[in-house]
Amino acid sequence: MKVLVINSGSSSIKYQLLDMSDETVLASGLVERIGEHNGLVRCQLFPDQNGGRQVQLEEKIPDHQSGMRRAVDLLTNGENGVIAEKSDIGAICHRVVHGGEDFQKPITINEQVIEAIEKNIPLAPLHNPANLDGIRVARELFPGTPQIAVFDTAFHQTIPDHAHIYALPYEYYQEHRVRRYGFHGTSHKYVAGECAALLGKPLEECNLITVHLGNGCSITAVENGCSVDTTLGMTPLEGLVMGTRCGDLDPAIHVFLHRQLGYDIEKIDEILNKRSGLKGICGMNDMRDIHAEISKGNERARLALAVQTYRNRKYIAAYMAVLGRVDGLVFTAGIGENDPVVREQSLQGFEMFGIKLDPQLNSRREKSPFLISAADSKVAVWVIPTNEELAIARESIEVLKSTND
Ligand code: ADP
Repeated sequence: MKVLVINSGSSSIKYQLLDMSDETVLASGLVERIGEHNGLVRCQLFPDQNGGRQVQLEEKIPDHQSGMRRAVDLLTNGENGVIAEKSDIGAICHRVVHGGEDFQKPITINEQVIEAIEKNIPLAPLHNPANLDGIRVARELFPGTPQIAVFDTAFHQTIPDHAHIYALPYEYYQEHRVRRYGFHGTSHKYVAGECAALLGKPLEECNLITVHLGNGCSITAVENGCSVDTTLGMTPLEGLVMGTRCGDLDPAIHVFLHRQLGYDIEKIDEILNKRSGLKGICGMNDMRDIHAEISKGNERARLALAVQTYRNRKYIAAYMAVLGRVDGLVFTAGIGENDPVVREQSLQGFEMFGIKLDPQLNSRREKSPFLISAADSKVAVWVIPTNEELAIARESIEVLKSTND
């Protein structure tokens, strides 16, 4: 079956067409700057095994509907397209950021599911409305084709209450659902599954720590295949030091910024989400730039790296205590997959727990999973590239199979 995976943002739509009979990517693309006069549709088409072909259109894309229409036109565009007609697509799979407490698993979209995603808008005011735009447009463009929602939060719904309740007045949880939810669930679940396969054990028997370090960063403790704690919270701001997001803070800093500096809530929100993290410390949020600056002696760049990796170490150690036994530790996403220095610094001092990296293995660069721990390490440490589109497509196929059974 061919499936179209859609990640609809406020001004962009990312999409990928996969043939799930052999899990090959037929096309992947991006519609950008929706609503602006200089919209852009990019699509990489893979009509055969001989590399891809890039198509790019620059034109006004007034809304999500015309953006999606454009993208589908490119997929079905005569000789250049990769499918004959849109009815060749058997399912549309949507990434939805916040499922709140309503969804533990992916689900076929119907009116009730749309209502529940709407209900969760207060928990993800930027993301859920954009995800809903994508769903509504896809339902119009593909009437009758099953549409599945895959939630970033779903994998973490197994986190026990002692790990997800904030120490705030309890009625905020009861009345407003203020609690920790966690994100990047599709990625953590995917690499956990891949790691279990590499360890030769069923996922349900594996205790793992999955370390997702990209622009957004999070670490998850996986016990017997289920998430039991994760670093992101009610919103994707808690926990690790990220590209532009601060991660854990003394909450009274918000009050300080307001009282002492006179910032209003919108400004504080912007600072914590867009002007903090690595960027806040050293002015750069791309780890490659940070390394280049460190090699020139830039002290702030060194500090930013040290602050990030120190926070990683604290959470990895905490999750070792949460799990008691760890079978595997996985690094993934842009930084996790590509940066041996971050990996090495994030596991500094773990020899006392029996975790040892092999420096030579750690310095390898591969597109497929590779082991980086030493032969005598008690815990296997892997680098496993994440693939959220494939994970979303696989989970959607499972939903379709279970509804057809
Ligand atoms: P997102 O969270 O946006 O999906 P990615 O997982 O693609 O992010 O990660 C993006 C980040 O990965 C970049 O900001 C950059 O810091 C980092 N990155 C990408 N390639 C490398 C590399 N070769 N070395 C170090 N960091 C890298």
